Amino acid sequence: MADRAAWLRVLGQVADRQGEVGLVSCPDCGQDRLEVRYIVEPETRVGYVLLWCGACVHGISVSRVRPPEGAPTRSIDDPASVVGVPDFARHE
Ligand SMILES: [Zn+2]
Repeated sequence: MADRAAWLRVLGQVADRQGEVGLVSCPDCGQDRLEVRYIVEPETRVGYVLLWCGACVHGISVSRVRPPEGAPTRSIDDPASVVGVPDFARHE
């Protein structure tokens, strides 16, 4: 089982790819099933990020994040911003 530090490293790799998660594998199960969602305050573009694996349903939540340029974001004011996010096991 990977720890939070391993997940944070993966988040850095995802950020380097402008939110493209396709080539990054899950630190817990090794599958290429990661999903990322940036939920931000539209004015400041600061918010939080959810990174999870669709296969083993583990992941992390990180606050006070500014998404990389070009990454898709959702508004923190939008109740639908977390629709479709599974109730994944968070590494705290
Ligand atoms: Zn996994």
